[in-house]
Amino acid sequence: MVNLTDNRVSIVIPCYNEEAVIAESIRRLLCVCEGGGLVNVELIFVDDGSRDRTRELLRGFADKDSRIKVIGFARNFGHQIAVTAGIDAARGDAVVLIDADLQDPPEVILEMIEKWREGYDVVYGTRTERPGESAFKLATARGFYRVLNKLSDIPIPLDTGDFRLLSRAVADVLRAMPERDRFLRGMVSWVGFRQIALPYKRAERYAGESKYPLRKMLPFAIDGILSFSTKPLQVSIGLGMISATIALIGIVYAIALRLFTNIWVEGWTALMIAVLFLGGAQLLSVGIVGEYIGRIYNEMKQRPMYVADEYIGFTKKEPTFSRTSERMVP
Ligand code: UDP
Ligand code: MG
Repeated sequence: MVNLTDNRVSIVIPCYNEEAVIAESIRRLLCVCEGGGLVNVELIFVDDGSRDRTRELLRGFADKDSRIKVIGFARNFGHQIAVTAGIDAARGDAVVLIDADLQDPPEVILEMIEKWREGYDVVYGTRTERPGESAFKLATARGFYRVLNKLSDIPIPLDTGDFRLLSRAVADVLRAMPERDRFLRGMVSWVGFRQIALPYKRAERYAGESKYPLRKMLPFAIDGILSFSTKPLQVSIGLGMISATIALIGIVYAIALRLFTNIWVEGWTALMIAVLFLGGAQLLSVGIVGEYIGRIYNEMKQRPMYVADEYIGFTKKEPTFSRTSERMVP
């Protein structure tokens, strides 16, 4: 077994209404750390504006154990932003991202650390099994990753979540990436360095229910695609070409009939179809362009990415607002 005592490891755990799992999650994580000889470890819990007793419980644990630190958000900012805040605050030589619900087995962290000690900068977990998830979620997730890879210029590994280990170098690059619409698993692929997959069996949620209903999954998927590809912008060119070709065929056909026969094209059906098709194509194209413009607007506002109203257990006083533009200057 490698000596792990001298490396500092940060574990980032985003929590949103996780009162039912927090205690067990902490128990399992600390158990793994102690079993694996990780002495120099910090558990950074990011409370993403929970409305249950999550914050209160976390405060209690942080008071008793100096390894436990808490960042409390002023409202719910979403999982990706919560993880970002954790990475910003982490001081470890390695930063591990893991969900609070124990779907990602904490024991796998030790395997990740071993790979990191071998020299890898990113060790990402790939799910070989996902018990307890609906067939719908599995099918949409599978379809999504395939579409994303078709569209994106950088390959993003299939069937990976955010359960992963990042070296200090990668964490620093991520900290310097200012985009507000964050799709971390894509951003980590973009960074490069030495990356390796680590297959693991995903468990069922320990308690509580998924905080990622379809209503949140869909914007997340759109974020993923729009942040990593400008190909959707070309959809309008494709649609335009298709409709122009159809129109051209129609025109030639109508003229030919008029000139060479004594019947001619009549009826409003063809007209309606053409109008509806063109209208649809135009709306779709404008919508896609609008999505990108909305994103430009969002970035341009330069708002802080998150607002934290509480930092517990950090030695240096952390700024209440993080990721304002001046922090981006190295
Ligand atoms: N989460 C969060 N903010 C949110 C939604 C989720 O911090 O707005 C956390 C949640 O507490 C959990 C992790 O992100 O630790 C993954 O969420 P969940 O398990 O509900 O998603 P699923 O595994 O069903 O995709
Ligand atoms: Mg989960």
